[in-house]
Amino acid sequence: MQKKKRKAPGKSGPAVSRKKKAASHRDGKFKSFASANAIGEGFFANAAEGILVTDSRGVITTVNPAFVAITGRKQKDIVGKKVSILFSDASNRKTFEVMQKELEKNAKWQGEVWNRSNRGENHPLLLTVVAKKTPPQKTPYYLYLFTDISSHIDNSMPSRNQAYYDSLTGLPNRQLLNDRLTFMISRAKRSNSFLGLLLLDLNRFQSINDTLGYSTGDQLLQAIGTRLKSCVREVDAVFRLGDDEFAMILEGISQPEDATHIAKRILNTCSAPFRLLNREVYTTISVGICIFPSDGDTVDQMLKNAQAALSRSKDLGINSFQHYQPSMNAKVAEEFTIENDLRRALERNQMLVFYQPQIDLITKEIIGAEALVRWMHPQLGMISPGQFIPLAESNGLIISIGEWVLKTAAVQAKKWQEQYDRNFCIAVNLSNRQFQQQDLVSLVERTLGETALEPHTLELEITESMGMKNPEATLKTLQQLKSMGIRIAIDDFGTGYSSIYYLKKFPIDTIKIDRSFVDDIVTDPNDATIVLAMIALAHSLRLTVIAEGVENREQLDYLLRNGCQKIQGFIYSPPVNANGFEQLLADPTLLRNLVF
Ligand code: C2E
Ligand code: CA
Ligand code: CA
Repeated sequence: MQKKKRKAPGKSGPAVSRKKKAASHRDGKFKSFASANAIGEGFFANAAEGILVTDSRGVITTVNPAFVAITGRKQKDIVGKKVSILFSDASNRKTFEVMQKELEKNAKWQGEVWNRSNRGENHPLLLTVVAKKTPPQKTPYYLYLFTDISSHIDNSMPSRNQAYYDSLTGLPNRQLLNDRLTFMISRAKRSNSFLGLLLLDLNRFQSINDTLGYSTGDQLLQAIGTRLKSCVREVDAVFRLGDDEFAMILEGISQPEDATHIAKRILNTCSAPFRLLNREVYTTISVGICIFPSDGDTVDQMLKNAQAALSRSKDLGINSFQHYQPSMNAKVAEEFTIENDLRRALERNQMLVFYQPQIDLITKEIIGAEALVRWMHPQLGMISPGQFIPLAESNGLIISIGEWVLKTAAVQAKKWQEQYDRNFCIAVNLSNRQFQQQDLVSLVERTLGETALEPHTLELEITESMGMKNPEATLKTLQQLKSMGIRIAIDDFGTGYSSIYYLKKFPIDTIKIDRSFVDDIVTDPNDATIVLAMIALAHSLRLTVIAEGVENREQLDYLLRNGCQKIQGFIYSPPVNANGFEQLLADPTLLRNLVF
């Protein structure tokens, strides 16, 4: 349901300085000076950057004064020596190897190296190396350009790489995106040109993690990074912002449609299967596009509007892109208001618990109820959990909402037990995040203590995907809950990937056959067969089986005929408020279609 949050920033990867100065080297100044194919004397002598030139064998032929100032190495000590001596210490050796390979392949390299000054201090340098061919002889010479970036780095950071690069993909991170966007916007303003910002988000990445494991998920992110880079030119930068979010800045596009073409290319490129750990993995991407200057002319505006376009694109469904439109911000503003309102909903008593009866077709009794939360919004009216639970999951409010639902339902169930039926069982849904909570077990214990509810009359509903992230931890939690006497149900059974595994591995009491199977039970022979198999499986494992979403007589007959005697669905009652439910308990003949 919700995307997992993964820690994003990390270290390593090809380095690019975050500062304007270095960016200008990469894209403009250095290039033009290199392509001039000769080093202008004035520039060479006065450049703020250290410049070193080697011949084709890597022998240093010259360095400029800034090089001496930056590195602390004297000209006479190094001219005539192999450039490798600059990289002979442990912190640079590996980098040097990578650089050599890259130079052979692509004739250029950029990254960060460490320089040890004469005083023995280490500081980082941004190094750009370009192999230049000098016709008519084809042997290259090499230009090394060193920029001191230590002053750009916050020294409290454990390593500057860690602060600006993502360890998994090696791509620059959000921090660098901000810096680079600032710089590029000012450059685009000066040159009166367009700039495109693309925000990208993988669809259903969480379920790839859940079903194929985190290492496959990690490999997918790396592969996506590589494919994204293949979709754009060298000057266009690709960033990983965290989780499954990426970004791109497209510089020098001549019209907004160019960004459209690139977005299409990205969608195409990334929809081809990825071969990971010997299996084919498919994914799709959503893209939001914001164009400077029409859609925004500050970093904040561009990021905000690209995000609005991305949200819209995600709403539209998989594998789509959207250009920003002003109306999108109205939607984002509405979501923002809803999120703010949700924060106050509990304290303002706007949350309600509805109850849907669970019926035993043989004994003809209401055996229990599922507690289903509702939000009564003062302006928007009744909001269904499908709309706000995902939001509450992502911002953490689900913890307090879930706690409140559990307590409210337990108090209510205890009251009904005393009044109507001692064995009345209350089912409460647990969300993903609640289930991962460290103190779930103690919360449940406390609630039982405070409400005096018998543990065997409380059933907690979890879904298959919840437990699969960490089966060991799931088993431990479920065992602790079981040892208190609480019942566990698998909700939406059959919709996950791991049904049988789940039943074998975890202490489960009940399976709830998902409504999607029940819906087509009389029209689709496949679904009918699957339901039969589920019922048989439940019986053979001595589990209770209950069918959800039963709406008509045909479905009910089929289920009863095939051994599923417990049902929940509109055929008898939708979820109703506590008063309404109490009337049903007092007089079950009020149940709709009382067709036993
Ligand atoms: P769910 O757990 O699968 O709940 C069953 C949903 O099916 C409920 O939707 C219920 O109103 C609906 N339903 C029941 N019988 C029928 C039927 O015969 N036909 C049709 N078409 N629908 C039927 P609701 O109340 O909108 O809840 C939606 C989902 O929100 C729930 O799905 C559950 O996943 C989540 N949810 C609800 N309350 C809570 C809560 O307190 N905590 C958490 N974590 N999730 C909750
Ligand atoms: Ca449920
Ligand atoms: Ca369900």
